[in-house]
Amino acid sequence: MSTALAERRDSPAPGETTRPLVDRQLRRVEYLRLSVTDRCNLRCTYCIPEDGVAHLERSDVLSFEEVVALVRSFARLGVRRLRLTGGEPTLRRDLPQLVKMLRAIPGIDDLALSTNGLRLVELAAPLRAAGVDRLNVSLDSLQPTRFARITRGGDVGRVLAGIEAARAAGFHAIKVNVVAVRGFNDDELPALCSYAWERGLIPRFIEQMPMADGALFVPGTFLGAADIRAMIAASLPGAALLAEPADGPAAGAGPARYWRADVPGQGARRFGIISPLTEHFCDTCNRVRLSASGALHTCLGHDDATDLRAALQDGGDAAVIEAIRAAIGAKRDGHQFGLLGIGGPRKAMVQIGG
Ligand code: SAM
Repeated sequence: MSTALAERRDSPAPGETTRPLVDRQLRRVEYLRLSVTDRCNLRCTYCIPEDGVAHLERSDVLSFEEVVALVRSFARLGVRRLRLTGGEPTLRRDLPQLVKMLRAIPGIDDLALSTNGLRLVELAAPLRAAGVDRLNVSLDSLQPTRFARITRGGDVGRVLAGIEAARAAGFHAIKVNVVAVRGFNDDELPALCSYAWERGLIPRFIEQMPMADGALFVPGTFLGAADIRAMIAASLPGAALLAEPADGPAAGAGPARYWRADVPGQGARRFGIISPLTEHFCDTCNRVRLSASGALHTCLGHDDATDLRAALQDGGDAAVIEAIRAAIGAKRDGHQFGLLGIGGPRKAMVQIGG
């Protein structure tokens, strides 16, 4: 491409970057989940098939420079909040360096990370120093044997040590994400709450979504938001459970709804529920996902994607901005996740960007 052409294409038309990123339902998109790798060091049964999924070739994974170029375009369009995810994002080599580069992008004022915690002992302090503000750590059980079973071999001791390292590193908030699975960890929800509350962390419970064409869904294991609330309430006798306002103290940028239990003698205890199935939040969805290869997914529940890497290579920032606007313009009204394990995308979570 000639320099003149590159310059012309890299300069979005005036006005192109000042209109907010709004879809057909007038939902404003300002939150990007960015997958930095499709690889994971766990194989959670509800997330990845036992024999894994086909991995991207190294050359198909966006370079740091490409990630920064794409995020700069999102930031120009009003995206303010970024969450790094995967796969397992801490497996991406030199992740703190990428965090620093993303932090330097004008307009990005909140940077969070989702992790399984296995590498936090080494990485919590460098990631905090590089500019990660908030952390979500996945933890489906505190019991070593159970944890190893659901993650197919994970060591919960390493995750717990990682959470301690994260607490010492001084993140603004640490949330503990638990996928709620009937018959697996439903008897442990109160213990997971106590673990988090004793450390000043916020526990959050996620309804299982039928990803990968329902291939990972085990009938009878779905646990919905109302049951999760009832189980936690039953473990706190005498405590009133109240819905928190959308801008309450635990609120983040994502879809969790928060609840407060006023426990006599102990004060307020907060927990979140992410309920894409029984109490879905599609009408307020403010986020999109960028896969590790640069595919923009505007809804987790569908396979549709726009190749932003190709747009960047072919037409620079202006083409990326045009492609983002077109994709948001076609953002689906909602997903069709069903309670019986159908209705989700053909892709697995790690291929879209959890
Ligand atoms: N590896 C990182 C982690 O563990 O947080 C980031 C990626 S992981 C896919 C993000 C979150 O998605 C985790 O909390 C995981 O438990 C959750 N998750 C994966 N598959 C899911 C499913 N089918 N339904 C609900 N949550 C799921």
